[in-house]
Amino acid sequence: MLKDFFIHSSFVITFLFIGGSLFKNNPEMDTTLQKLKLGALAGILGSVLMAFSIQITPVIMMDLRHVAILLSAFYGGFVSAFVAASIINISRLVFFDGSLETFLVTVLIMFIIAGFAALVQKKVEGPDFFKWTIMGLISLITISSGLLYLMGFSDQVYQLLVNYWVITTISGVLVYFLAGYIVQSNQMFLHLKTQSATDFLTGLNNVRQFDSSLNESIESAQEHNEKLSLLMIDIDHFKKVNDTYGHQAGDEVLRQLGGLLITCSRPSDIVSRNGGEEFSLLLKNCSYSQALEIAERLRGIVENHRFSIPNGKEIKITISLGASTYLETTQYLEDFIKQADDTLYKSKRTGRNKVSAL
Ligand code: GH3
Ligand code: MG
Ligand code: MG
Repeated sequence: MLKDFFIHSSFVITFLFIGGSLFKNNPEMDTTLQKLKLGALAGILGSVLMAFSIQITPVIMMDLRHVAILLSAFYGGFVSAFVAASIINISRLVFFDGSLETFLVTVLIMFIIAGFAALVQKKVEGPDFFKWTIMGLISLITISSGLLYLMGFSDQVYQLLVNYWVITTISGVLVYFLAGYIVQSNQMFLHLKTQSATDFLTGLNNVRQFDSSLNESIESAQEHNEKLSLLMIDIDHFKKVNDTYGHQAGDEVLRQLGGLLITCSRPSDIVSRNGGEEFSLLLKNCSYSQALEIAERLRGIVENHRFSIPNGKEIKITISLGASTYLETTQYLEDFIKQADDTLYKSKRTGRNKVSAL
């Protein structure tokens, strides 16, 4: 029996790693689709565990399938737990025989465990390990009651249950810590990934992310034969803001300008801080004349906006802009950026607070 449960634990661990990889880029269980996916994965795990069950009598088998349900309830709540329990029950019906009574008792046990585990996860206050322990206890009591109902009480059943409780408890603790470790490393991975793509001051894309978004947008523009426009934006005489009001005030202006650019752009536009007081906008499916119009609108909005700085004052700034359009003003990536830069500096040279065309 010990050997069998060792094999079962290996299956659970393998599935934990598969689950960890599947949910690596999106570990939040905040959509129904995510919960369904988790439930399905746990259901498959439960079914695999069942396939390697320990045959106690010709019709009664024991395994760790309830751990799959506990995992789905713990991380995905009711939806995941019920999907997992349903898949396990369907597999039981399709792949394994037994009397109707045994089948019905098993189905009931799985749904009771799913329901209670999800309820504990939602309602019980306290540390995660405390919740996990209660979930485990409820499962063991339910499974033991089912077994006693089907087999009656005897020394053999008593010995079986003692072994089952010990082994299941050890596996449960192991699975809890391993799953926690995987979830934590996924969260850390995502946090670092976001941080490495984000400008810490404004929360916009940083220059590294700008580069990869630019490449993706160029590919998508080629594929759909759509024009892609780029606006380069630079604050005028920003050094003066720092010199007059201090660096902190300058930071505040940068932050608010970032917010303003996001507010004024479409959700599909990619807004980045390319460095210092330079920003950019990648405008998908946008012609050169539209880009110039948008640039002029932004220039006007910034010119009229009052930026609050830490001493309670409000100040005004202006920006200079340049634009280029891939598949209209140029077919080449290098020229795409250069044209936007060149026209930005044309705006600077010819008086600032303006948009210049090629
Ligand atoms: P121009 O109109 O020619 O663009 O003049 P400018 O003063 O804006 O340009 P310049 O390149 O001479 O100076 C840019 C200034 O931006 C200098 C630097 O102190 C400031 N700056 C760059 N990054 C930051 C930042 O993160 N925070 C603050 N507060 N200032 C920054
Ligand atoms: Mg500047
Ligand atoms: Mg500059």
